[in-house]
Amino acid sequence: MTNENNIDAAALCDKYQMNTYVRKDTIVRGRGSRAMCPNGNQYLDFTSGISVVALGHAHPAVVEAIKTQAEQLVHSSNLFYTPTVGQLAEKLSKLGLGGKVFFSNSGAEANEAMIKLARLWGSANGGRYEIVCMRQSFHGRTLATLSATGQSKVQKGYDPLMPGFVFAEFNDLESVKAAVTDKTVGILFECVQGEGGVIPADPEFVQGIRALCDEKKLLMMCDEIQCGMGRTGKMFAFEHYGVRPDLCTMAKALGGGLPLGALLAAPEFSDVFTPGSHGSTFGGNPVACAAALAVLRVFEEEKVLDHVEQYGELFRKGLEQLVEKYDGLLAVRGKGLLLGLVFAEPRAAEMLEELRNGGMLACVAGPNVVRFLPPLTLSDKDLDEGLDMIQEALSILFDEEEA
Ligand SMILES: *Cc1c(COP(=O)(O)O)cnc(C)c1O
Repeated sequence: MTNENNIDAAALCDKYQMNTYVRKDTIVRGRGSRAMCPNGNQYLDFTSGISVVALGHAHPAVVEAIKTQAEQLVHSSNLFYTPTVGQLAEKLSKLGLGGKVFFSNSGAEANEAMIKLARLWGSANGGRYEIVCMRQSFHGRTLATLSATGQSKVQKGYDPLMPGFVFAEFNDLESVKAAVTDKTVGILFECVQGEGGVIPADPEFVQGIRALCDEKKLLMMCDEIQCGMGRTGKMFAFEHYGVRPDLCTMAKALGGGLPLGALLAAPEFSDVFTPGSHGSTFGGNPVACAAALAVLRVFEEEKVLDHVEQYGELFRKGLEQLVEKYDGLLAVRGKGLLLGLVFAEPRAAEMLEELRNGGMLACVAGPNVVRFLPPLTLSDKDLDEGLDMIQEALSILFDEEEA
């Protein structure tokens, strides 16, 4: 085996990889909540690979499932049936919307499938194609999904954007109603906006959209790519609101670290796609599906959802105490273990740097929000240590100014 300590990953990536990411650290190994660097440094990882390795790094059940399936069959394509793929589709159907599933390799592709299905259904139902999307949303980086994303910073320079997306104000039902026309086919939103600032939807907003969709025969389309898969304490974030969408997408944590996305449909919309109307070479890769099955098994065996609810509350309380202590902090936002610490000023990047210096990795969600995505299996020790590191970073940020 090559010794990764002898490879200068940063030099290679910077020289030969296109310059789309800003990064500092090289990670060569992960175990549970820890991410390790080649020099022996390790971080408490509250990014979980952007909410992907939700059970922590190298969970034994996931590693075992990957190994076993890789020895059996890595890929055969969708020209053939595969057992793990069928089993996962059944599981997601029963956990989710009760209908059928389309597998992709990423979140953006799952959203592409959702947009295509909506258009296909709309073209047969009144020639409708327009989708109402939310400002501050995030749906991916392909041309269609970035056109559906309500953030000009990801769209800049890519004109002309894909037509057919109009924007409304998140958590403002009147603005959604005002955006609906006789061309509207669906309403697309996240129950907790992740990249847009860790902003949960209000119950009246989500329930109002459901009622509006029923009244006007529109598709309620939920992007559960970040807020789904147990991250908020329910398998799907929409479950917090007592309503069910017609379509939803998953990705990030679904494959236990392997690239896997899925579009789930309610039974009424499960046969809109027909042979040839959509497809993917890799989508529903057997190894990724085996990993996903292992993740879902661990969810049941280890009661992960209850754990998220309980530890989400503990983590939130710990962060709220810090908000009380520092005037420079405004609030804690989010649900379960998708939590954002909101700064009064755009200091999230600075905070991230202080956290890193102190041994913790976290994400941002806009200039004012530090976003924490710890493993869903967060232990008492990691929670305490994490809160101490956050306190320490804040004291460097704020106390030294006051002194
Ligand atoms: C990450 C994300 C996506 C895009 O997923 P990719 O796998 O990066 O294509 C879409 N929607 C939401 C809400 C996300 O958080």
